[in-house]
Amino acid sequence: MSDCIFCKIINKEIPSSFVYEDDDCVVFKDIHPKTKTHLLVVPKMHIDSIAHLAETDTELVGKLFQVCKKVADQLGLPGYNLQVNVGKEGGQEVFHLHIHLMSRF
Ligand code: 5GP
Ligand code: ZN
Repeated sequence: MSDCIFCKIINKEIPSSFVYEDDDCVVFKDIHPKTKTHLLVVPKMHIDSIAHLAETDTELVGKLFQVCKKVADQLGLPGYNLQVNVGKEGGQEVFHLHIHLMSRF
């Protein structure tokens, strides 16, 4: 999506360093961290939100959680919180699906 900030980050139109990248997703630091570790786990494919998931996205969603686990393990986080905001009324500001991976460690 041409006007999507996360698509621009994924396509490297906006400089950003990735904590993790594979064929399906990227992980980068939140620009306004709310916790010591605050990462965004983002699919490369543009999906507006959880409310816009198709049946065919099931595998991708599972993959996103696997990536949360992988990155948390790599960083040695003993505990963390995962948050997904859905819709404007749910506090979503960027309409490209993402999981907040937050930890006080
Ligand atoms: P949401 O409220 O949509 O769940 O969360 C969007 C998050 O994206 C916010 O925590 C915000 O700080 C972060 N964010 C917005 N724009 C950028 C950006 O250009 N770069 C990075 N790294 N994070 C961003
Ligand atoms: Zn996008």
